[in-house]
Amino acid sequence: PAELDALAANFTVLPNPNKASDAKRADIIDKPAFGQVFSDSMAHMTWTKGEGWGDRRIEPYAPLKLDPGASVLHYAQEIFEGLKAYRHADGSTWLFRPDANAERFQNSAERLYLPQLPVDDFLGSVAALIKEDRAWVPSRREYTLYMRPFMFASEPFLGVRAPEEVDYCVIASPSGPYFTGGLKPVSIWVEDQFFRTGPGGTGYAKCGGNYAASLLGEYRGIAQGCEQVCFVDAATKTYLEELGGMNMMIVHKDGHVETPSLNGNILPGVTRRSLIQLMADEGRDVVETMIELDQLLEDIKSGEVTEVFACGTAAIITPIGRFKSDKFDIEVNGGKPGELTTKLREQLLGIQMGEIEDPHNWMWKV
Ligand code: PMP
Repeated sequence: PAELDALAANFTVLPNPNKASDAKRADIIDKPAFGQVFSDSMAHMTWTKGEGWGDRRIEPYAPLKLDPGASVLHYAQEIFEGLKAYRHADGSTWLFRPDANAERFQNSAERLYLPQLPVDDFLGSVAALIKEDRAWVPSRREYTLYMRPFMFASEPFLGVRAPEEVDYCVIASPSGPYFTGGLKPVSIWVEDQFFRTGPGGTGYAKCGGNYAASLLGEYRGIAQGCEQVCFVDAATKTYLEELGGMNMMIVHKDGHVETPSLNGNILPGVTRRSLIQLMADEGRDVVETMIELDQLLEDIKSGEVTEVFACGTAAIITPIGRFKSDKFDIEVNGGKPGELTTKLREQLLGIQMGEIEDPHNWMWKV
């Protein structure tokens, strides 16, 4: 929508003497090392209890100056988002459902007792950064500029309370295809000892602490030869929740799909929500429900479940080829990507790349 231009115009662009040369940028975009190299600029805003949000600016990408007493370094009041900028064949640049990320950012802020960033500032900051660093948006299919908005308590204060000074930034990192050489199913470690969250916890918020809590389980899985971890519910250890950074969907042989319901422990993924809509559009039955691990394992063995996949912004859709724990080790669909998995991935990627119709106006031109 045109309003993005007006929202971006609220950000003052500061001079940047350190921009990468065209040749250097082209080289980085050609071989992106996700999350290791960042574009020339960043968006930045500050909040104080007295003044509210202000100082909207696009500044040179540079290390932050942070007081060692800043609350975030001690008590982890930090939230973030992740979304991508896509370049269409005509050279134009687009965002996918940035309003959904803005809304989730507000929900995360509320849970961490951080101030809420107005949706207009979320949209304006992301758009202003893309406008300034547009040349960093790659043009090859599945290559994108990953945008990372984040907010943290910067106030130098060691008391545990709601912060009175907060910083909000957006940085951007060119990213390449998650899968090179075809969709490759991943092996999943089912973790039932170390949980990322629990009832009444921060599971539904996108806060740094959830990811810190997920690492021990993730590495237990890696030590067992798995690529990612799937968490079960902490209260009963019975139901599947989500992966460390993706939601999960299960395809049954009659074509209906099940996905864990948003029980407060799970991050409400934008990809999850979008796939549910696309499947509903074609009349497919999608059920949000509690998914029992033991039942799933039985259904995979009996052939009742034919495909399992994970979904999220980074990889769009990742087929799951194997579930493993210290009690079982079971293959899904012969370890091959399923038909619906492959079809949905092409459909969503097609919408994001502007190759097929965008039936719900999910794409926002920047
Ligand atoms: N669950 C978790 C824990 C995640 O970190 C992510 C990535 N943001 C997702 C699910 C998928 O969310 P989205 O589709 O919005 O990327």
